[in-house]
Amino acid sequence: MLFILKIAYLIALLHFFKMRTLNELYSLLPRIKNIVITHHFNADADAIGSSLGLYHYLQTIGIQSQVITPNTLPSFLTWMPGADNIIVFEKEQAKASKLLQEAELIFCLDINTFSRTKIMTEEIAKSKAIKVMIDHHLQPQLELFDYGLSLPDKSSTCEMIYDFINTNQDNSKITLPIAKCLYAGTMTDTGSFKFSCTTASVHTMVADLIKKGLEPTFIHQAIYDTYDENRLRFLGYVLSSKMEIIPESHTAIIAISKQDMQHYELKQGDTEGIVNYPLSLKNINLSIFLSEREEEIRMSFRSKGHLDVNTLAKKYFNGGGHENAAGGRSTNTLENTISDIKKAILENQTNIVSCYNELA
Ligand code: 5GP
Ligand code: MN
Repeated sequence: MLFILKIAYLIALLHFFKMRTLNELYSLLPRIKNIVITHHFNADADAIGSSLGLYHYLQTIGIQSQVITPNTLPSFLTWMPGADNIIVFEKEQAKASKLLQEAELIFCLDINTFSRTKIMTEEIAKSKAIKVMIDHHLQPQLELFDYGLSLPDKSSTCEMIYDFINTNQDNSKITLPIAKCLYAGTMTDTGSFKFSCTTASVHTMVADLIKKGLEPTFIHQAIYDTYDENRLRFLGYVLSSKMEIIPESHTAIIAISKQDMQHYELKQGDTEGIVNYPLSLKNINLSIFLSEREEEIRMSFRSKGHLDVNTLAKKYFNGGGHENAAGGRSTNTLENTISDIKKAILENQTNIVSCYNELA
């Protein structure tokens, strides 16, 4: 009897935690007044592209919303249509907090839990708004959201917004600004259409966006060809002096100190993408990039093949992400964090080597 009660309780609990589907949102949205769209701290092209893509789409169907980003955008994303209307939480905290508390619905994009917004976590958690997740990261905290969709096999949240629009039979409402935003995040999250998440549906979406007038070259240049000279010289310095190779573990580690960043006068977003370079080496299938920030050491993990960096980042460095791309953090010193990484690599040596041999 007790056993049956326990099962019934578990079923009820599961039902309670079950997010409602996005399909149920379409009819609800026009009746909702204050809508906020947000995403993770240190927003990337997928976070901004999906948020602005959704913002423009809602506007075309007569629904107003406000995008709030946790911290300042990197300069390579400010060209996106609508970027000027984004409220930056760290700059306008009082205004942003008020909007979050007055919101009836909050879209949480490209995040699987509130804490990925870092400084906005409390404000989102305490808001009475309906919380909606649209995301493609592993291990979502479903119990935090009322509605949503978590699809780790999807290339990007931008692709999921494209699907969200199409499911509402609104393909014809995809304007050029929407196309630019959605293409940008899909392009960066697929590594310019080379990662394994680059499915046929990604290419079908891109073909459709091009038919609507999108010029891919413009987006590539806006994101990848707008470096300042110091950023490129920094990359040269990093690759020649800061890349440590551990051949027996097929691993490369790059660790950047605060002084390095100050010396090259780096801005927000200037270290983005550096983690990918060591993977172009034929004997490397794990690349780890560390940067010393004010409050913590930020880590980026990238891998080839079936080497699962999501698990590595989650188990050792309080992070997560996807199988081949993840982030983590440490409050240890830079030197000690490098030692911790080396220990973690040694512990996982057999698996790292066998994943490498699978590729070779
Ligand atoms: P990046 O190294 O570019 O910061 O992050 C790589 C990928 O992992 C991105 O998709 C990013 O959103 C995700 N990611 C970074 N940090 C975390 C984290 O702490 N938790 C989770 N779940 N994903 C993360
Ligand atoms: Mn993403």
